[in-house]
Amino acid sequence: MDDCLFCQITNKKEPANILYEDDEIIAFKDIYPKAPIHVLVVPKKHILSVDHLKEEDKGLIGELFLVAKKLAKDQKISESGYKLLFNVGEGGGQVIGHLHLHLLGGWKK
Ligand code: AMP
Ligand code: ZN
Repeated sequence: MDDCLFCQITNKKEPANILYEDDEIIAFKDIYPKAPIHVLVVPKKHILSVDHLKEEDKGLIGELFLVAKKLAKDQKISESGYKLLFNVGEGGGQVIGHLHLHLLGGWKK
């Protein structure tokens, strides 16, 4: 997907502040953070949105949550708590058409 920003970040054609990467997933800081800690957890496979998930993506979705949990620990927000969010489609506030899980936290208690 040449014109997809998150595919370009995955392929290192666009810069990002990468916090985690494995064969299937990349996670980087949101460039316009909506919380003190705001990380995007992104499958490297180009999937448009949650609404475009297929049966074969079951495992991948599980991995996304496990990576989010690990990142929350790395970012020291496990104990204070955090939000995990998928925006789905235009009406759901999704702007980038490549599936991503928002990890938000770090607010003062
Ligand atoms: P969504 O509205 O769910 O599609 O979220 C897209 C998110 O991507 C927004 O929170 C943006 O701030 C973020 N974003 C846009 N461009 C970049 C970029 N180049 N690097 C990191 N995050 C970005
Ligand atoms: Zn993409």
